Amino acid sequence: MSIKNITVIGAGTMGNGIAHVFAQSGYDVTLVDVAQAALDKAIATITSNLARQVKKGTLTEADQAATLARIQTQTDLATSVKSADFVIEAATERFDLKKVIFATLDANAPAGVILATNTSSISVTELAACTGRASHVIGMHFFNPVPVMKLVEIIRGLATTDEVYATVKALTEAVGKTPVEVNDSPGFVSNRVLMPMINEAIYCVMEGVATPEDIDTVMKLGMAHPMGPLQLADFIGLDVCLAILNVLHEGLGDTKYRACPLLKKMVAAGRLGKKSGQGFYKY
Ligand code: NAD
Repeated sequence: MSIKNITVIGAGTMGNGIAHVFAQSGYDVTLVDVAQAALDKAIATITSNLARQVKKGTLTEADQAATLARIQTQTDLATSVKSADFVIEAATERFDLKKVIFATLDANAPAGVILATNTSSISVTELAACTGRASHVIGMHFFNPVPVMKLVEIIRGLATTDEVYATVKALTEAVGKTPVEVNDSPGFVSNRVLMPMINEAIYCVMEGVATPEDIDTVMKLGMAHPMGPLQLADFIGLDVCLAILNVLHEGLGDTKYRACPLLKKMVAAGRLGKKSGQGFYKY
């Protein structure tokens, strides 16, 4: 099936970026959210990000207008997928919520349409099991900020077919991104490798090994990381880091993934990083 109409579920940080890149690549996008305010904010964000691209000379004004014209918004999930050729879900990271979304998508999207998820840590195989089309459910894991970051981890659920994988790989390349094939496993590759490093950096803070600034400097200047692990944790959100570590710990059953007590304490205190104004740094 050729893909023209794409429905993006969830208009938050990731959903607006995903809608942006698909629309800029010529796809017609329907962006869906339960909250009209989230849709309004997403359109404002996309508008200002496109304007930045025009200012930098990487996009023409005509392409900016055409990109925006290809995005429509919708608050009714069932209606939004009736004429979709491809669906990607980027709603809040909660299994109970995504489970209902996938059952609704399955009941309303045309047969044979691929249902992708942008989840960072939830099992693609378990989400697929909430539908009657497990062979057509797949992970398409973009990175933040979506218009800038080149990587997409494509996660194959247990039942995902080779044909579905090939379609999503081609779609990833069509929007100028680089796909990496990953089998469904807790944290996929990105978070399985990243989160233990962030967690260990937090243990170093807790044990007084060095200050957050000095730990980040070691990783930036010594390992050529563009951002230190504690600054990165603040950007991702400490609550998100804790949730992913819990998924790794539960899913893999190895104590090496247990979340550092200082991370739990900071989340309990509401110090969630950049979004709350304070994490390992003040914003
Ligand atoms: P977010 O909180 O910014 O946005 C989530 C949006 O989903 C909100 O606007 C919310 O109103 C909406 N929503 C909730 N229930 C819905 C429903 N039933 N139908 C439609 N919309 C609904 O979250 P985010 O950071 O954009 O994350 C979205 C997904 O992307 C999550 O699965 C997350 O794990 C994943 N992800 C996040 C990042 C990141 O850096 N933030 C990176 C990669 C993947």
